[in-house]
Amino acid sequence: MTMKLHPLTLHQASEMLQKGEMTSEELCRAVLRRIEAVEPKIHSYVTVMEKDESAPDSGNAPSNDSLLAGIPLAVKDNIVTLGIRTTCASRILSNFVPPYDATVISRLKEKGAVLLGKTNLDEFAMGSSTETSAVGTTRNPWNLACIPGGSSGGSAAAVAADACIAALGSDTGGSIRQPAAHCGVVGLKPTYGRVSRFGLVAFASSLDQIGPLTKDVEDAALLLQVIAGYDPKDSTSLDVPVPDYRAALTGELSGKTVGVPKEYFVEGMQPEVEAAVREALAFLEKEGATIVEVSLPHTEYAVATYYILATAEASSNLARYDGVKYGYRAEGAEELIEMYRKTRAEGFGKEVKRRIMLGTYALSSGYYDAYYRKAQQVRTLIRQDFDRAFEKCDVLVTPTSPTTAFRIGEKVDDPLQMYLSDILTLAVNLAGIPGISIPCGFDDSGLPIGLQVLGKHFEEATILNVAYAYEQRTDWHKMRPAL
Ligand code: GLN
Repeated sequence: MTMKLHPLTLHQASEMLQKGEMTSEELCRAVLRRIEAVEPKIHSYVTVMEKDESAPDSGNAPSNDSLLAGIPLAVKDNIVTLGIRTTCASRILSNFVPPYDATVISRLKEKGAVLLGKTNLDEFAMGSSTETSAVGTTRNPWNLACIPGGSSGGSAAAVAADACIAALGSDTGGSIRQPAAHCGVVGLKPTYGRVSRFGLVAFASSLDQIGPLTKDVEDAALLLQVIAGYDPKDSTSLDVPVPDYRAALTGELSGKTVGVPKEYFVEGMQPEVEAAVREALAFLEKEGATIVEVSLPHTEYAVATYYILATAEASSNLARYDGVKYGYRAEGAEELIEMYRKTRAEGFGKEVKRRIMLGTYALSSGYYDAYYRKAQQVRTLIRQDFDRAFEKCDVLVTPTSPTTAFRIGEKVDDPLQMYLSDILTLAVNLAGIPGISIPCGFDDSGLPIGLQVLGKHFEEATILNVAYAYEQRTDWHKMRPAL
Protein backbone atom coordinates (compact mmCIF):
# COMPACT_ATOMS: atom_id res chain seq x y z
CA MET A 1 0.00 0.00 0.00
CA THR A 2 1.37 3.42 -0.84
CA MET A 3 1.56 6.13 1.74
CA LYS A 4 -0.96 8.96 1.65
CA LEU A 5 0.83 12.19 0.84
CA HIS A 6 -1.79 14.89 1.37
CA PRO A 7 -1.75 14.65 5.20
CA LEU A 8 1.97 15.51 5.36
CA THR A 9 3.15 18.58 7.20
CA LEU A 10 5.49 20.98 5.42
CA HIS A 11 8.57 19.77 7.31
CA GLN A 12 7.68 16.12 6.72
CA ALA A 13 7.07 16.68 3.02
CA SER A 14 10.23 18.70 2.71
CA GLU A 15 12.30 15.97 4.32
CA MET A 16 10.85 13.32 2.01
CA LEU A 17 11.54 15.48 -1.03
CA GLN A 18 15.12 16.11 0.04
CA LYS A 19 15.69 12.39 0.57
CA GLY A 20 14.16 11.61 -2.81
CA GLU A 21 11.39 9.50 -1.24
CA MET A 22 8.80 11.18 -3.45
CA THR A 23 8.75 13.83 -6.15
CA SER A 24 7.13 17.21 -5.96
CA GLU A 25 4.87 16.16 -8.81
CA GLU A 26 3.61 13.16 -6.85
CA LEU A 27 2.95 15.38 -3.86
CA CYS A 28 1.15 18.05 -5.92
CA ARG A 29 -0.99 15.46 -7.68
CA ALA A 30 -1.93 13.87 -4.36
CA VAL A 31 -2.99 17.22 -2.95
CA LEU A 32 -4.91 18.10 -6.13
CA ARG A 33 -6.76 14.77 -5.86
CA ARG A 34 -7.54 15.60 -2.25
CA ILE A 35 -8.90 18.99 -3.34
CA GLU A 36 -11.17 17.27 -5.87
CA ALA A 37 -12.46 14.95 -3.16
CA VAL A 38 -13.15 17.50 -0.41
CA GLU A 39 -13.92 20.75 -2.24
CA PRO A 40 -17.55 19.86 -2.99
CA LYS A 41 -18.04 19.65 0.79
CA ILE A 42 -15.96 22.55 2.13
CA HIS A 43 -15.53 25.03 -0.76
CA SER A 44 -12.24 26.43 0.51
CA TYR A 45 -10.83 27.63 -2.83
CA VAL A 46 -11.87 30.44 -5.16
CA THR A 47 -9.37 29.32 -7.81
CA VAL A 48 -7.51 26.01 -8.10
CA MET A 49 -4.63 25.95 -10.53
CA GLU A 50 -4.82 23.47 -13.38
CA LYS A 51 -2.69 20.37 -12.86
CA ASP A 52 -0.10 21.44 -15.41
CA GLU A 53 0.11 24.98 -14.12
CA SER A 54 0.84 23.96 -10.57
CA ALA A 55 3.14 20.99 -11.11
CA PRO A 56 6.76 22.15 -11.34
CA ASP A 57 8.77 21.09 -14.40
CA SER A 58 11.46 19.19 -12.58
CA GLY A 59 9.78 16.03 -11.41
CA ASN A 60 12.57 14.84 -9.21
CA ALA A 61 14.85 16.55 -6.75
CA PRO A 62 13.79 20.10 -5.85
CA SER A 63 15.45 22.72 -8.02
CA ASN A 64 17.07 24.47 -5.07
CA ASP A 65 17.95 23.51 -1.55
CA SER A 66 15.16 25.42 0.13
CA LEU A 67 12.82 23.65 2.51
CA LEU A 68 9.89 25.00 0.52
CA ALA A 69 11.03 23.73 -2.87
CA GLY A 70 8.30 21.71 -4.53
CA ILE A 71 5.79 22.17 -1.71
CA PRO A 72 2.19 22.95 -2.78
CA LEU A 73 0.78 25.94 -0.89
CA ALA A 74 -2.53 27.82 -0.90
CA VAL A 75 -2.81 31.60 -0.69
CA LYS A 76 -5.70 33.77 0.46
CA ASP A 77 -7.33 35.48 -2.48
CA ASN A 78 -6.54 39.01 -1.28
CA ILE A 79 -2.81 38.54 -1.94
CA VAL A 80 -2.02 39.47 -5.52
CA THR A 81 -0.57 36.88 -7.88
CA LEU A 82 0.89 37.70 -11.28
CA GLY A 83 -1.40 36.41 -14.02
CA ILE A 84 -3.73 34.65 -11.57
CA ARG A 85 -7.14 36.13 -10.81
CA THR A 86 -7.24 37.82 -7.40
CA THR A 87 -10.84 38.50 -6.42
CA CYS A 88 -10.91 39.33 -2.68
CA ALA A 89 -14.12 37.27 -2.91
CA SER A 90 -15.77 40.42 -4.21
CA ARG A 91 -17.84 40.96 -7.32
CA ILE A 92 -15.95 44.20 -7.91
CA LEU A 93 -12.67 42.29 -8.48
CA SER A 94 -14.19 39.17 -10.01
CA ASN A 95 -12.25 39.66 -13.26
CA PHE A 96 -9.08 41.24 -11.84
CA VAL A 97 -5.83 39.60 -12.99
CA PRO A 98 -2.89 41.35 -11.28
CA PRO A 99 0.14 42.40 -13.36
CA TYR A 100 2.56 41.70 -10.47
CA ASP A 101 3.24 39.43 -7.50
CA ALA A 102 2.97 40.42 -3.85
CA THR A 103 6.36 40.37 -2.13
CA VAL A 104 5.37 37.29 -0.13
CA ILE A 105 4.55 35.49 -3.38
CA SER A 106 7.89 36.46 -4.98
CA ARG A 107 9.64 35.13 -1.90
CA LEU A 108 7.77 31.82 -1.99
CA LYS A 109 8.49 31.48 -5.69
CA GLU A 110 12.20 32.19 -5.18
CA LYS A 111 12.27 29.26 -2.79
CA GLY A 112 10.59 27.01 -5.31
CA ALA A 113 7.19 26.66 -3.59
CA VAL A 114 4.25 25.66 -5.78
CA LEU A 115 1.11 27.81 -5.79
CA LEU A 116 -1.87 25.46 -5.73
CA GLY A 117 -4.63 28.00 -5.70
CA LYS A 118 -6.31 31.00 -4.09
CA THR A 119 -8.50 30.52 -1.04
CA ASN A 120 -11.88 31.91 -0.07
CA LEU A 121 -12.38 34.77 2.39
CA ASP A 122 -14.94 37.22 3.63
CA GLU A 123 -15.29 39.92 0.98
CA PHE A 124 -12.16 42.14 1.29
CA ALA A 125 -11.37 40.24 4.51
CA MET A 126 -14.28 41.93 6.30
CA GLY A 127 -15.88 39.35 8.52
CA SER A 128 -15.38 36.49 10.95
CA SER A 129 -17.10 33.62 9.17
CA THR A 130 -16.34 33.66 5.41
CA GLU A 131 -20.07 34.20 4.92
CA THR A 132 -19.65 37.63 3.30
CA SER A 133 -17.75 36.06 0.37
CA ALA A 134 -19.41 36.82 -2.95
CA VAL A 135 -18.68 33.27 -4.10
CA GLY A 136 -20.33 31.45 -1.21
CA THR A 137 -19.44 30.31 2.29
CA THR A 138 -16.61 27.95 3.14
CA ARG A 139 -17.65 25.16 5.50
CA ASN A 140 -15.86 23.96 8.61
CA PRO A 141 -14.23 20.57 7.91
CA TRP A 142 -15.09 19.44 11.46
CA ASN A 143 -18.79 20.13 10.97
CA LEU A 144 -20.11 21.20 7.59
CA ALA A 145 -23.03 23.07 9.17
CA CYS A 146 -20.58 25.44 10.89
CA ILE A 147 -18.52 28.39 9.71
CA PRO A 148 -14.75 27.89 9.41
CA GLY A 149 -14.14 31.31 10.94
CA GLY A 150 -12.92 34.28 8.97
CA SER A 151 -11.82 36.07 7.20
CA SER A 152 -9.09 33.56 6.18
CA GLY A 153 -11.67 30.76 6.41
CA GLY A 154 -10.66 29.22 3.09
CA SER A 155 -7.00 28.93 4.07
CA ALA A 156 -7.84 27.49 7.51
CA ALA A 157 -10.34 24.96 6.12
CA ALA A 158 -7.94 23.91 3.34
CA VAL A 159 -5.15 23.26 5.86
CA ALA A 160 -7.49 21.38 8.22
CA ALA A 161 -8.82 19.24 5.37
CA ASP A 162 -5.32 18.51 3.98
CA ALA A 163 -6.33 20.30 0.78
CA CYS A 164 -2.91 22.01 0.81
CA ILE A 165 0.31 21.46 2.75
CA ALA A 166 0.20 24.96 4.27
CA ALA A 167 -1.35 28.33 3.48
CA LEU A 168 -1.05 32.08 3.84
CA GLY A 169 -3.76 34.29 5.27
CA SER A 170 -4.07 37.89 6.40
CA ASP A 171 -5.02 39.22 9.82
CA THR A 172 -6.44 42.70 10.45
CA GLY A 173 -8.34 41.92 13.63
CA GLY A 174 -8.02 38.18 14.04
CA SER A 175 -8.49 36.78 10.54
CA ILE A 176 -5.63 34.29 10.77
CA ARG A 177 -5.93 33.30 14.42
CA GLN A 178 -9.72 32.94 14.74
CA PRO A 179 -10.21 30.65 11.70
CA ALA A 180 -7.13 28.67 12.79
CA ALA A 181 -8.82 28.17 16.18
CA HIS A 182 -12.15 27.17 14.62
CA CYS A 183 -10.54 24.70 12.20
CA GLY A 184 -8.04 23.17 14.65
CA VAL A 185 -4.87 24.38 12.92
CA VAL A 186 -1.99 26.76 13.70
CA GLY A 187 -2.26 30.43 12.65
CA LEU A 188 0.35 33.14 13.22
CA LYS A 189 -0.10 36.90 12.92
CA PRO A 190 3.35 38.49 12.83
CA THR A 191 4.28 41.84 14.36
CA TYR A 192 3.03 44.79 12.30
CA GLY A 193 5.97 45.60 10.02
CA ARG A 194 7.50 42.13 10.13
CA VAL A 195 6.08 40.92 6.80
CA SER A 196 5.73 43.07 3.70
CA ARG A 197 2.20 44.15 2.85
CA PHE A 198 3.19 44.96 -0.73
CA GLY A 199 0.58 43.22 -2.84
CA LEU A 200 -1.82 42.52 0.01
CA VAL A 201 -5.06 44.20 -1.04
CA ALA A 202 -5.50 46.86 1.63
CA PHE A 203 -8.39 46.64 4.09
CA ALA A 204 -7.07 48.62 7.09
CA SER A 205 -3.45 49.46 6.32
CA SER A 206 -2.34 50.20 9.88
CA LEU A 207 -3.56 46.77 11.06
CA ASP A 208 -3.15 44.31 8.15
CA GLN A 209 -0.45 41.62 8.29
CA ILE A 210 0.13 38.46 6.25
CA GLY A 211 0.96 35.24 8.08
CA PRO A 212 1.01 31.43 7.88
CA LEU A 213 -1.77 28.89 8.55
CA THR A 214 -0.22 25.46 9.03
CA LYS A 215 -0.64 21.95 10.41
CA ASP A 216 1.87 22.50 13.20
CA VAL A 217 4.12 25.09 14.85
CA GLU A 218 7.31 24.03 13.10
CA ASP A 219 5.63 24.66 9.74
CA ALA A 220 4.57 28.13 10.89
CA ALA A 221 8.22 28.86 11.77
CA LEU A 222 9.39 27.65 8.35
CA LEU A 223 6.88 29.73 6.40
CA LEU A 224 7.43 32.84 8.50
CA GLN A 225 11.17 32.52 7.88
CA VAL A 226 10.61 32.94 4.15
CA ILE A 227 8.04 35.76 4.18
CA ALA A 228 9.52 37.87 7.03
CA GLY A 229 11.92 40.73 6.50
CA TYR A 230 12.34 44.25 5.26
CA ASP A 231 10.87 45.21 1.90
CA PRO A 232 11.63 48.61 0.38
CA LYS A 233 8.28 48.36 -1.44
CA ASP A 234 6.36 48.58 1.86
CA SER A 235 7.16 51.76 3.78
CA THR A 236 5.75 50.21 6.97
CA SER A 237 7.92 47.11 6.83
CA LEU A 238 10.73 47.36 9.35
CA ASP A 239 14.40 46.67 8.91
CA VAL A 240 14.78 44.39 11.93
CA PRO A 241 16.98 41.27 11.71
CA VAL A 242 15.02 38.05 11.16
CA PRO A 243 16.17 35.33 13.57
CA ASP A 244 16.28 31.62 12.77
CA TYR A 245 12.75 30.70 13.86
CA ARG A 246 13.17 26.97 13.60
CA ALA A 247 16.31 27.06 15.72
CA ALA A 248 14.29 28.89 18.39
CA LEU A 249 12.05 25.83 18.82
CA THR A 250 13.75 24.28 21.83
CA GLY A 251 10.56 23.35 23.68
CA GLU A 252 12.10 24.82 26.84
CA LEU A 253 9.60 26.46 29.20
CA SER A 254 11.49 26.86 32.46
CA GLY A 255 12.32 30.44 33.23
CA LYS A 256 9.42 31.66 31.10
CA THR A 257 6.70 33.76 32.67
CA VAL A 258 3.22 33.46 31.20
CA GLY A 259 0.79 36.31 31.86
CA VAL A 260 -2.93 35.63 31.95
CA PRO A 261 -4.97 38.79 31.29
CA LYS A 262 -7.94 38.64 33.60
CA GLU A 263 -10.12 40.66 31.21
CA TYR A 264 -9.80 37.93 28.57
CA PHE A 265 -12.00 35.47 30.36
CA VAL A 266 -15.10 37.34 29.29
CA GLU A 267 -18.67 36.93 30.32
CA GLY A 268 -20.60 34.71 27.97
CA MET A 269 -17.53 32.66 27.15
CA GLN A 270 -18.29 29.04 26.30
CA PRO A 271 -17.44 27.04 29.45
CA GLU A 272 -15.60 24.34 27.48
CA VAL A 273 -13.34 27.00 25.94
CA GLU A 274 -12.46 28.44 29.31
CA ALA A 275 -11.87 24.96 30.76
CA ALA A 276 -9.56 23.93 27.91
CA VAL A 277 -7.51 27.12 28.20
CA ARG A 278 -7.24 26.85 32.01
CA GLU A 279 -6.11 23.26 31.58
CA ALA A 280 -3.46 24.33 29.07
CA LEU A 281 -2.24 26.96 31.55
CA ALA A 282 -1.98 24.39 34.32
CA PHE A 283 -0.06 22.19 31.93
CA LEU A 284 2.40 24.97 31.05
CA GLU A 285 2.95 25.55 34.76
CA LYS A 286 3.57 21.88 35.40
CA GLU A 287 6.11 21.91 32.58
CA GLY A 288 8.13 24.69 34.17
CA ALA A 289 6.55 28.04 33.26
CA THR A 290 5.55 30.59 35.89
CA ILE A 291 1.96 31.81 35.59
CA VAL A 292 1.04 35.35 36.69
CA GLU A 293 -2.22 37.26 36.42
CA VAL A 294 -1.99 40.54 34.51
CA SER A 295 -4.48 43.23 33.57
CA LEU A 296 -5.25 44.87 30.23
CA PRO A 297 -7.63 47.49 31.60
CA HIS A 298 -8.73 49.04 28.29
CA THR A 299 -9.84 45.74 26.78
CA GLU A 300 -13.50 46.74 26.91
CA TYR A 301 -12.85 49.52 24.38
CA ALA A 302 -11.07 47.33 21.84
CA VAL A 303 -14.09 46.40 19.74
CA ALA A 304 -15.33 50.00 19.45
CA THR A 305 -11.86 51.34 18.74
CA TYR A 306 -11.15 48.72 16.11
CA TYR A 307 -14.46 49.21 14.31
CA ILE A 308 -13.88 52.94 14.02
CA LEU A 309 -10.28 52.76 12.83
CA ALA A 310 -10.66 49.69 10.59
CA THR A 311 -13.76 51.09 8.88
CA ALA A 312 -12.21 54.55 8.50
CA GLU A 313 -9.16 53.08 6.79
CA ALA A 314 -11.34 50.76 4.71
CA SER A 315 -13.52 53.62 3.49
CA SER A 316 -10.43 55.37 2.22
CA ASN A 317 -8.73 52.24 0.78
CA LEU A 318 -11.83 51.10 -1.07
CA ALA A 319 -12.36 54.45 -2.79
CA ARG A 320 -10.14 53.16 -5.61
CA TYR A 321 -12.78 50.71 -6.84
CA ASP A 322 -14.71 53.00 -9.12
CA GLY A 323 -14.95 51.02 -12.34
CA VAL A 324 -12.38 53.17 -14.13
CA LYS A 325 -8.97 51.49 -14.07
CA TYR A 326 -9.68 47.86 -13.26
CA GLY A 327 -12.26 45.47 -11.90
CA TYR A 328 -15.99 45.45 -12.43
CA ARG A 329 -17.75 48.29 -14.29
CA ALA A 330 -21.54 48.56 -14.29
CA GLU A 331 -23.28 48.70 -17.65
CA GLY A 332 -25.68 51.31 -18.84
CA ALA A 333 -24.55 54.45 -16.98
CA GLU A 334 -25.12 57.71 -18.86
CA GLU A 335 -22.45 59.78 -17.12
CA LEU A 336 -19.40 59.41 -14.85
CA ILE A 337 -20.95 59.86 -11.41
CA GLU A 338 -23.73 57.47 -12.29
CA MET A 339 -21.12 54.96 -13.46
CA TYR A 340 -19.27 55.21 -10.13
CA ARG A 341 -22.50 54.86 -8.22
CA LYS A 342 -23.81 51.88 -10.14
CA THR A 343 -20.43 50.13 -10.16
CA ARG A 344 -20.05 50.42 -6.40
CA ALA A 345 -23.70 49.60 -5.69
CA GLU A 346 -23.48 46.43 -7.79
CA GLY A 347 -19.87 45.52 -7.06
CA PHE A 348 -19.75 45.61 -3.26
CA GLY A 349 -21.66 43.34 -0.90
CA LYS A 350 -23.70 44.40 2.13
CA GLU A 351 -20.98 44.16 4.78
CA VAL A 352 -18.44 46.09 2.70
CA LYS A 353 -20.99 48.85 2.12
CA ARG A 354 -21.80 48.95 5.82
CA ARG A 355 -18.12 49.47 6.61
CA ILE A 356 -17.59 52.13 3.96
CA MET A 357 -20.53 54.05 5.42
CA LEU A 358 -19.39 53.65 9.04
CA GLY A 359 -15.85 54.69 8.14
CA THR A 360 -16.88 57.65 6.04
CA TYR A 361 -19.08 58.83 8.90
CA ALA A 362 -16.27 58.51 11.46
CA LEU A 363 -13.97 60.59 9.25
CA SER A 364 -16.46 63.25 8.27
CA SER A 365 -16.07 66.82 9.36
CA GLY A 366 -17.68 67.43 12.73
CA TYR A 367 -17.39 63.76 13.73
CA TYR A 368 -13.67 63.26 13.15
CA ASP A 369 -12.66 64.49 16.61
CA ALA A 370 -15.39 62.60 18.39
CA TYR A 371 -14.73 59.28 16.68
CA TYR A 372 -11.56 58.89 14.63
CA ARG A 373 -9.26 61.01 16.79
CA LYS A 374 -10.68 59.59 19.99
CA ALA A 375 -10.21 56.06 18.69
CA GLN A 376 -6.56 56.81 17.87
CA GLN A 377 -6.06 58.00 21.46
CA VAL A 378 -7.65 54.86 22.87
CA ARG A 379 -5.48 52.79 20.54
CA THR A 380 -2.44 54.25 22.31
CA LEU A 381 -3.90 53.30 25.71
CA ILE A 382 -4.48 49.76 24.48
CA ARG A 383 -0.90 49.50 23.26
CA GLN A 384 0.35 50.80 26.60
CA ASP A 385 -1.72 48.13 28.40
CA PHE A 386 0.29 45.48 26.56
CA ASP A 387 3.61 47.26 27.19
CA ARG A 388 2.85 47.28 30.90
CA ALA A 389 1.70 43.67 30.97
CA PHE A 390 4.90 42.59 29.21
CA GLU A 391 6.97 44.16 31.99
CA LYS A 392 5.75 41.24 34.13
CA CYS A 393 5.86 38.36 31.66
CA ASP A 394 7.38 36.99 28.45
CA VAL A 395 4.15 35.97 26.76
CA LEU A 396 0.42 36.25 27.34
CA VAL A 397 -1.86 33.25 27.00
CA THR A 398 -5.60 33.60 26.33
CA PRO A 399 -8.37 31.84 24.44
CA THR A 400 -8.36 32.80 20.74
CA SER A 401 -12.13 33.06 20.48
CA PRO A 402 -14.80 33.08 23.20
CA THR A 403 -16.66 30.23 21.50
CA THR A 404 -16.03 27.40 19.08
CA ALA A 405 -17.30 27.71 15.49
CA PHE A 406 -20.91 28.87 15.28
CA ARG A 407 -23.47 27.66 12.78
CA ILE A 408 -23.67 29.05 9.27
CA GLY A 409 -26.34 31.74 9.22
CA GLU A 410 -26.41 32.19 13.00
CA LYS A 411 -24.91 35.71 13.06
CA VAL A 412 -25.25 37.03 9.51
CA ASP A 413 -28.18 39.26 10.35
CA ASP A 414 -26.64 40.58 13.55
CA PRO A 415 -23.43 42.46 12.71
CA LEU A 416 -22.85 43.48 16.33
CA GLN A 417 -22.81 39.85 17.49
CA MET A 418 -20.45 39.07 14.63
CA TYR A 419 -18.14 41.95 15.64
CA LEU A 420 -18.16 40.85 19.28
CA SER A 421 -16.87 37.42 18.35
CA ASP A 422 -13.47 39.08 17.67
CA ILE A 423 -13.17 40.47 21.17
CA LEU A 424 -10.03 38.45 22.04
CA THR A 425 -8.05 39.08 18.86
CA LEU A 426 -8.66 42.72 17.82
CA ALA A 427 -6.57 44.46 20.46
CA VAL A 428 -3.50 42.54 19.31
CA ASN A 429 -3.67 44.26 15.92
CA LEU A 430 -4.30 47.64 17.54
CA ALA A 431 -1.10 47.13 19.57
CA GLY A 432 0.81 45.68 16.59
CA ILE A 433 2.18 42.73 18.56
CA PRO A 434 2.49 39.14 17.26
CA GLY A 435 0.07 36.34 18.16
CA ILE A 436 -0.34 32.67 17.39
CA SER A 437 -3.32 30.34 17.78
CA ILE A 438 -2.74 26.62 18.35
CA PRO A 439 -5.19 23.78 18.97
CA CYS A 440 -5.82 23.01 22.67
CA GLY A 441 -8.86 20.77 22.78
CA PHE A 442 -12.39 20.12 21.54
CA ASP A 443 -15.83 21.04 22.82
CA ASP A 444 -18.57 18.48 23.51
CA SER A 445 -19.73 18.55 19.92
CA GLY A 446 -16.25 17.84 18.60
CA LEU A 447 -15.32 21.35 17.44
CA PRO A 448 -11.72 22.52 17.96
CA ILE A 449 -10.68 25.10 20.58
CA GLY A 450 -7.79 27.52 20.06
CA LEU A 451 -5.16 28.80 22.51
CA GLN A 452 -3.71 32.23 21.77
CA VAL A 453 -0.11 33.08 22.68
CA LEU A 454 0.90 36.75 22.39
CA GLY A 455 4.37 38.26 22.50
CA LYS A 456 6.29 41.52 22.51
CA HIS A 457 6.94 43.33 19.23
CA PHE A 458 9.22 41.26 16.98
CA GLU A 459 9.33 38.34 19.43
CA GLU A 460 7.72 35.80 17.13
CA ALA A 461 10.48 33.37 18.10
CA THR A 462 9.32 33.45 21.74
CA ILE A 463 5.63 32.77 21.01
CA LEU A 464 6.53 30.09 18.49
CA ASN A 465 8.65 28.36 21.11
CA VAL A 466 5.99 28.48 23.84
CA ALA A 467 3.44 27.19 21.32
CA TYR A 468 5.89 24.49 20.27
CA ALA A 469 6.56 23.46 23.86
CA TYR A 470 2.82 22.95 24.39
CA GLU A 471 2.32 21.24 21.05
CA GLN A 472 5.19 18.78 21.53
CA ARG A 473 3.63 17.54 24.74
CA THR A 474 0.05 17.27 23.42
CA ASP A 475 -1.69 15.57 20.52
CA TRP A 476 -4.42 18.06 19.56
CA HIS A 477 -2.63 19.16 16.41
CA LYS A 478 -2.53 15.60 15.12
CA MET A 479 -6.31 15.21 15.06
CA ARG A 480 -7.96 15.36 11.65
CA PRO A 481 -11.62 15.84 10.74
CA ALA A 482 -13.41 12.82 9.29
CA LEU A 483 -14.44 14.27 5.96
N1 GLN B 1 -13.37 39.94 11.88
C1 GLN B 1 -12.67 41.19 11.86
C2 GLN B 1 -13.35 42.13 10.90
O1 GLN B 1 -14.35 41.75 10.35
C3 GLN B 1 -11.25 40.97 11.47
C4 GLN B 1 -11.10 40.72 10.03
C5 GLN B 1 -9.67 40.55 9.61
O2 GLN B 1 -8.80 40.33 10.44
N2 GLN B 1 -9.43 40.71 8.35
O3 GLN B 1 -12.93 43.23 10.71
